[in-house]
Amino acid sequence: MRDFIYLDHQATTPLAPESLEAMLPWLSGPEAIGFANPHSMHRAGRVAAAAVEVAREQVAQLLPKGGRVIFTSGATEAINQAIRAVPLGAIALSAVEHSAVVNAALASGAECQELPVSKDGVVDPDVDFPEGADLVAVMQVNNEIGTIQPVARLAERAHEAGALFLCDAVQGAGKLPPPEDADFIAITAHKLYGPKGIGALWVREGLSIAPWIHGGGQESGLRSGTLSPALCAGFGAAAALAKARMDVDFQHLSGLAARARAILARWTVNGSESARWPGNLSLRLAGLNFPRLLSDCRTIAFSAGSACGSGTGAPSRVLTAIGLEAVEARNSIRLGFGRYTTMDEVETACHALDAAATAQGC
Ligand code: PLP
Repeated sequence: MRDFIYLDHQATTPLAPESLEAMLPWLSGPEAIGFANPHSMHRAGRVAAAAVEVAREQVAQLLPKGGRVIFTSGATEAINQAIRAVPLGAIALSAVEHSAVVNAALASGAECQELPVSKDGVVDPDVDFPEGADLVAVMQVNNEIGTIQPVARLAERAHEAGALFLCDAVQGAGKLPPPEDADFIAITAHKLYGPKGIGALWVREGLSIAPWIHGGGQESGLRSGTLSPALCAGFGAAAALAKARMDVDFQHLSGLAARARAILARWTVNGSESARWPGNLSLRLAGLNFPRLLSDCRTIAFSAGSACGSGTGAPSRVLTAIGLEAVEARNSIRLGFGRYTTMDEVETACHALDAAATAQGC
């Protein structure tokens, strides 16, 4: 029995029991052969390699048909690989991208230009791309405010402009159908009830890319390093489960979000009310002191809507991009619901948060 209510599913998700079970045979000690290197030629190695390929196919089922799935250590690595995959002169990226995209783009040496978002936190599908952009990067679902971006249209327009399209689908993978028409898609297991430490880069069929991590030539020479059959199997099982439960999970989260919204009716939603993933509720209340709320509600795991809550002092880039004043950004919280969150937990947490806010004089 948990002694806290976990409402931080954008940060990470709990491991699905099915994912854990799929990993166990590959975490064996000397008495069983599950520890074998999947790149070894002997029988045990080939058995492990077969498990990796089953997992690759399960993960591929969450992604567009065709294309290649390259296993990585997570989405940050996948994003870095995509940005270094082809020579780039200029990158256009949305103003609400995750720091993995922002900092990988900046570090690439390419010229970086921001695509603005509306006050709803959505990129205009007809936004002008900067002249000469050869990569456009827009995420599927925003991690801070949950807004869903028109990525299919943006990808189509990027191609018309002669640019490639990278989609960080970390928060949408296994929850929504995959982005269409992208050239690169980055995903990670730990946001879809799989293990931490593994993710994937999907690359459109026919696109030739440069190796990223150099070494023994694993992953067809594109990403060297010994794969973990346990992590692959856990990712694959989580992906298969997410695919099978996509509608059920969506309905469950929609019900939780509607109830939370009703209890917290006096709070303002950050970003679009309609173009949003129901597992993410980003809210603000005038005068709210986030550190005090976190301390008063310490049995609830939730986040600030702003980086100041994590100690940097700066207001959130995403919340300021949608036009919030720094003070409004600091008055924000993010509630993240998940597959295993119960209605009872949502009601208890929302009443407790609202009462604690009232006690602050908000
Ligand atoms: N992109 C988004 C939208 C995320 O939410 C995260 C995780 O916080 C990442 C990228 C990075 O993923 P990983 O933790 O697998 O490196």
